[in-house]
Amino acid sequence: MLKLSEQQELLRKVVREFVDNEIAPIAQKIDEEDTCPVELFEKMAQLGFNGVFVPAEYGGAGLGYTEMAIIIEETGRYSAGFAMGLVAHYMGVYAIMTWGSDEQKQKYLPMLCSGSFGGLSVTEPGGGSDFAGQKSTGQLVDRDWVLNGRKCFITNSHCMGVNVLTARTGEDDKGRPQISAFIIEGDAPGHNPGRKEKKAGLRGSYTGEIILDNVRLGPGNLLGKPGEGAKIALGTLGEMGRGGTAAAALGILRGCLEESVKYARERIIYGKPLSRLTNIQFIIAQNRTEYEAGRLLTYNAVGLKDAVKPCASEISMAKFFAAEAAVNAAKRTIDLMGAYGVITDYPVSRYLRDAVSTIPACGTSHIMQIIIAGGELRK
Ligand SMILES: Cc1cc2nc3c(=O)[nH]c(=O)nc-3n(C[C@H](O)[C@H](O)[C@H](O)COP(=O)(O)OP(=O)(O)OC[C@H]3O[C@@H](n4cnc5c(N)ncnc54)[C@H](O)[C@@H]3O)c2cc1C
Repeated sequence: MLKLSEQQELLRKVVREFVDNEIAPIAQKIDEEDTCPVELFEKMAQLGFNGVFVPAEYGGAGLGYTEMAIIIEETGRYSAGFAMGLVAHYMGVYAIMTWGSDEQKQKYLPMLCSGSFGGLSVTEPGGGSDFAGQKSTGQLVDRDWVLNGRKCFITNSHCMGVNVLTARTGEDDKGRPQISAFIIEGDAPGHNPGRKEKKAGLRGSYTGEIILDNVRLGPGNLLGKPGEGAKIALGTLGEMGRGGTAAAALGILRGCLEESVKYARERIIYGKPLSRLTNIQFIIAQNRTEYEAGRLLTYNAVGLKDAVKPCASEISMAKFFAAEAAVNAAKRTIDLMGAYGVITDYPVSRYLRDAVSTIPACGTSHIMQIIIAGGELRK
């Protein structure tokens, strides 16, 4: 049985109260208007949420990844879109916290903990799964790096304070692309948001292009060593981003469960509550079971990360399962509600759009399965 600590349950209560008061009332509106409530991000910073796993010496709460998952799940219960903004933020924070020099941590982490949005920019128009195929470049000119190129589908693209971004910086001795990671402040000259995408789901965070037009960076902006971009970006996605996305999908799963129970109790058909019908009970049972399975997989995976144990396979399993289950649960809950399921006064059709959109975010279900199978086959 999964048991969170008293302190973790207390945190959940605090987050839930914040979400009930600040996010639930506007969740529908931010979806309809396709906007991101950036002002809430600052309020969350005041509660210590934005740097939840960052050590106190850098302005964080000094907690862990389980606490991060709690914050994302609770946020995702009402707005998976805003929760994805948090996931992307945490990726930027994690990359700097894990691979940054002390100077970089001192400079960027306090601002990220206190209201500045972070992000991780990897994907390019040539394909997100093909990491080595990226074409953005970083060239050494004197001692500075000059970056050019275009990133796409980047969450927090239009509100980013600190961006961790990968670019091609040459070739290694075997002729393979050398990819490096950089830290760029959002307002650096030549670092510009481009097109803002109109997403089907996960509205509530911005996702769009980042255009790099001769962005000039000093040596202090290189994250890690030249050529460590794959380690940094794939490590961040694999051990942090996907755990966060699983937690956002878990929020959707809980939303489906709670909405299905509520509707089945309230809807009167044949003079009785809908919940009396066996097939309706089957839907509730499936929603409950899949929420529970997603919860166990997700908190087990982030718990391994907290315990500094290998967790890439477990995090991929959690992300794969929770995202796919959220799609199925949203579809089932729409079925349970009849026509009301597709009426946008109810949130469930949004849950379906949100759930489908979690599948490509931080790596597709195909890629998750390749990672999981690879882990098994290597044993
Ligand atoms: C809501 C959202 C938020 C996002 N936020 C960010 C962000 O903040 N930062 C960022 O860098 N990116 C972000 N992305 C991009 C995301 O990481 C990519 O969409 C994802 O990696 C897939 O890349 P792609 O869309 O280019 O699809 P492709 O890589 O072109 O894949 C197309 C299809 O081919 C399959 N495929 C690809 N490679 C293989 C393979 N080796 N074997 C089998 N099948 C394969 C895929 O599963 C998919 O079905 C976001 C995407 C979304 C939807």
